[in-house]
Amino acid sequence: MPEYKYLIIGGGMTADAAVQGIRQVDPEGSIGLIGQESKPPYNRPPLSKGLWKGQRLENIWRKAAAQDATLHLGRTAVHLYPANHCVTDEQKSVYYYKKLLLATGGTPRRLSADTPGVIYFRTVEDYSQLRLLAEQRQRFAVIGGGFIGSEIAAALAMAGKQVVMVFPEQGIGARMFPSDLALFLNKFYRDKGVEVRNAEQVASVEGRDGQFVVHLKSSQSALGQTILADAVVAGLGIRPNLELAQEAGLDIANGIRVDGLLRTSRPNIYAAGDVAEFFNPALGDYLRVEHEDNANTMGEMAGRSMAGEPVFYDHLPFFYSDLFELGYEAVGRVDSRLETVADWKEPFREGVVYYLRDGRVRGALLWNVWERVEAARQLIAEAGPFRAMDLKGRLLESPQHA
Ligand SMILES: Cc1cc2nc3c(=O)[nH]c(=O)nc-3n(C[C@H](O)[C@H](O)[C@H](O)COP(=O)(O)OP(=O)(O)OC[C@H]3O[C@@H](n4cnc5c(N)ncnc54)[C@H](O)[C@@H]3O)c2cc1C
Repeated sequence: MPEYKYLIIGGGMTADAAVQGIRQVDPEGSIGLIGQESKPPYNRPPLSKGLWKGQRLENIWRKAAAQDATLHLGRTAVHLYPANHCVTDEQKSVYYYKKLLLATGGTPRRLSADTPGVIYFRTVEDYSQLRLLAEQRQRFAVIGGGFIGSEIAAALAMAGKQVVMVFPEQGIGARMFPSDLALFLNKFYRDKGVEVRNAEQVASVEGRDGQFVVHLKSSQSALGQTILADAVVAGLGIRPNLELAQEAGLDIANGIRVDGLLRTSRPNIYAAGDVAEFFNPALGDYLRVEHEDNANTMGEMAGRSMAGEPVFYDHLPFFYSDLFELGYEAVGRVDSRLETVADWKEPFREGVVYYLRDGRVRGALLWNVWERVEAARQLIAEAGPFRAMDLKGRLLESPQHA
């Protein structure tokens, strides 16, 4: 029965960053990691971007956990007993801990009428499966117009595939971007050869003779309208993996609630990454962030905190994406339901979108604008009040002119 000073549940980027964090403070304490995937921790962002543009698969693997932790891969932690300081996996193995980190991330949402063969894109295995299909087949349906759907559609189109994108919103990325930008993206994708079926809902997906038939149900479509594809990829968002935390009676809201030291409501249990919800002082609000910067920074901080360093997690994470030759970085609440103020240098090609609530900037989208993340964080921390005219040029200008 293994017993670790530090036990980490989850084998993703947060888990690997936590091993790094522990080792910065405690060079010797034993570290165990239970990971459901059979592979050691790796970087997920290249799966939908870099690997389709020539980045090599061998460069995605992370090193910290593989070097400094005992890995229990292909194992799923199924029960957590806080009173006994132990966890059991699906094979009934027991793991004891002094400090535990929940870095369980999220599981892709599935279509309500699920069909075998649909790829709910998240893991390196999903990538390998899609890559193989892209070598053999021609026509792909991508369900979802958010982060994953828009990246995978672009990757497949750049690989010379016929791509049909289907999503219920009016425009690509409509939950994040103001509507004119989301509608511009529909046209931008169409110009790249992608068939964009916006405002369309998928009723079901049917496997038929080695292909798939996607049945649509929106009002725009006549009953029975379908899309035929060789493969179907879905990016419908994730739901955080909260089962262990629920069983252990931890405080949960939109994720596992943690304090500034990244501790949950039970002693010696920490949480970080996509699964954790934390308070951000600049926003004055709780956040759960499903992005790389948060996984890396929060994971490392959680590791340091577990090893005894008095950290305080007040980091406002940024995130990024690439859509063909367009790219962006974003900070804070990038949510199209907020008031938005766009400041374009060149419409939809280069500019900044500010997201405001009650006269304060709550988020910033830096669209083909680089090295302004820190300035955006500072702006979000400012008390305001701001009007649209105050924001013109604020993040667009280069630092020496700002
Ligand atoms: C294709 C793709 C592209 C992305 N691109 C970007 C990007 O460009 N920019 C950006 O900022 N972010 C991006 N992200 C998001 C970023 O990768 C995630 O925020 C990050 O991976 C979260 O890491 P995590 O370790 O918290 O969770 P996860 O990555 O979900 O890892 C959790 C791990 O824990 C395992 N696990 C869960 N429950 C258990 C259990 N009970 N027992 C054992 N193991 C368990 C899971 O199998 C999984 O391996 C992307 C994500 C994907 C999928």
